[in-house]
Amino acid sequence: MNKTALVTGITGQDGAYLAELLINKGYKVIGLVRSYSHGNVTGLEYLGIVDNVEIVECDLMDITHVMKIIKEYEPSEIYNLAAQSSVSLSFTQPIGTINFNITSVLNILEAIRITNPDCRFYQATSSEVFGHATLPIKETSRINPISPYSISKASAHWITKNYRESYGLFCCSGFLFNHESYLRSDNFFVKKVILQAIKIYKGEAKTLEVGNIDIKRDFGWAPKYVEAMYLMLQHDTADDFLICSNKSVSLRSIIEYIFDYLNIPLHHLKINEKLFRPTEIADMYGDNIKARNELGWIYEMSFFDVLKILIEEEIRNDKKK
Ligand code: NAP
Repeated sequence: MNKTALVTGITGQDGAYLAELLINKGYKVIGLVRSYSHGNVTGLEYLGIVDNVEIVECDLMDITHVMKIIKEYEPSEIYNLAAQSSVSLSFTQPIGTINFNITSVLNILEAIRITNPDCRFYQATSSEVFGHATLPIKETSRINPISPYSISKASAHWITKNYRESYGLFCCSGFLFNHESYLRSDNFFVKKVILQAIKIYKGEAKTLEVGNIDIKRDFGWAPKYVEAMYLMLQHDTADDFLICSNKSVSLRSIIEYIFDYLNIPLHHLKINEKLFRPTEIADMYGDNIKARNELGWIYEMSFFDVLKILIEEEIRNDKKK
């Protein structure tokens, strides 16, 4: 019989790519949305899998609702990707971010404990939880969150770890570093820069306005990163893993690559100090050796290879509009 996987955050970037991967592996995929009217399934449509996913409405803030869904579908795996996922937005919406990103996780784990304790659980944690860390970041690095988003993800991680250690549930946290694709929301840096650069290239805009671009981040390719989520839940033991490319690149070098690719002179770039974040980490990159050795997850793409794919996919889709 096919396994059933329940994916929260199915309307997001990772939800769509993970659903594609699970469908290809023969899973029945149930995608949870906060409401049918909010259930924007363009990512699933883009990947051509919308008819292969059963979309179900579920309020993750309501434990009785979550329990009902878990009882009804009896999933063997739950991937919890739903979250207010933007660090910037978390500074303007700290309460909403912290409330949802923590309580939803607690509700799902408590519902699993009560109704279906054999169900395996993946929690989408984030590299942001490490804050100003000694590099490279590893699973053993000190958790030191410095934004409302990372505070919420750090708490969700500790809850996940606690349910594993106290109740023996098979639950894993994936500390994922930034990962990108065509399906990334428009409010994230790389996507935003590519979209604006294409507008400048077409003569529809004059400048790209950005904040602090001298910071460096470890970026990767989303379809490859969701494989790691799947592998974590197939492992013999539940554990936490860091998923990253092992290298950081500066935001400035990303802009320069995109401008160069589209032949846009750099005077179209404008730095605006008002866009700087209240707290900022100068550099972040991780070490994925544990995922490589224990999960067999091997990542060898340079982020500039990813950028080339992203720009070309964006131009192809822009021409279809
Ligand atoms: P995304 O594209 O922003 O998708 C977030 C998903 O969460 C969407 O399906 C969204 O649903 C749902 N969601 C947000 N607020 C919700 C609420 N109040 N109730 C119910 N659903 C809600 O994020 P992503 O890039 O796919 O990332 C997936 C997960 O990994 C997130 O938890 C994110 O924080 C984490 N993560 C991502 C990265 C990255 O680089 N992408 C790195 C580290 C960790 P709607 O469509 O209804 O808004």
